[in-house]
Amino acid sequence: MFIDKDPSLSTYWRAIVLLGNNVASYKFALAKTLLEVQADSTLIRMEDLALPFALNVAQHLEHNDKQVTSKSSKFLDYCRQYNSEQIAQDELRAQAIKLGFVNVIDAFHKVSGNEVPRFFEDKRKDEKGIILTDNFYQLLKSSQSSNFGYEVESRWRLWETAISLGISPNLIQVNADIESNELFVHNPEARRISISSSRDALNGYQKGSCFYCSKDILIEQGYENSCDVDHFFPHKLKSSGIMNVDQVWNLVLACKECNRGEGGKFERIAHLDFLYALNDRNNYYVESHHPLRETIVNQTGRTESDRKAFLQSMYNGAVEAIPSKEKWKPRLRKELRE
Ligand SMILES: [Zn+2]
Repeated sequence: MFIDKDPSLSTYWRAIVLLGNNVASYKFALAKTLLEVQADSTLIRMEDLALPFALNVAQHLEHNDKQVTSKSSKFLDYCRQYNSEQIAQDELRAQAIKLGFVNVIDAFHKVSGNEVPRFFEDKRKDEKGIILTDNFYQLLKSSQSSNFGYEVESRWRLWETAISLGISPNLIQVNADIESNELFVHNPEARRISISSSRDALNGYQKGSCFYCSKDILIEQGYENSCDVDHFFPHKLKSSGIMNVDQVWNLVLACKECNRGEGGKFERIAHLDFLYALNDRNNYYVESHHPLRETIVNQTGRTESDRKAFLQSMYNGAVEAIPSKEKWKPRLRKELRE
């Protein structure tokens, strides 16, 4: 049996702070503000949230003037004016209420396309504020809670440094070259590494069907149903140091629908059913004396139980690193296992 592991609240919180493609530092500012604000009720009104939030942003602007990936931001301009004493706190608060929360409250709980358990509810319409949930109070009680403030701060600094140098904070991610129909990755030296050369070998087991939904796929590229090489454990985990995701044991062939875009797997963790399927697939390579046999044995273990333990530990590590409430499944799929 494989075990479907659920991440803890502190893991969800860290995922919010550590993951995702931020276009502005407001998520860090909100996380920091929530940890700092000593609310005497679960409701925090926007007028009470706005000033500490804006002051956190203003303080960071003093160190690093780049706080959004876009060229300009009206809200940041008001924070700068506050720093240079052109406007007072009341004005900063008013502008923060108006301009500071445009996306951050909506997007706060979204991690890699998934909604994680909520630390607050958005009640701006009815109550002119947000309501802290039980999750938030539980989080503060966790043994890790004293670290959260430092973690937000250090992640924020790293992020602003990266964007001011023009480097992606998530340096290592899967890229799709639509023209050559190829997925590739960048290694730490920023060199492009193709991961699409294993198609022929992988197809031996899958026999022309998508690993996830069983739809017919073509190895030959350039057709509507041409396949993609998919990382079972998302490529994103490469930077986590948990595993080498570019190895054969972790690569499967998937239809475009399962691999990419809306409803696609992309950076998510697949449902446990597919871990069984991956285990079966790897065992097949070993037992059938497939050309990839030695590779799989070297990468995952000599015995069946070694290989199973290997996959379980990868799964646990992946769930910790990319937490989400729901594991990914294709919309239409064959029945795999009960
Ligand atoms: Zn599919």
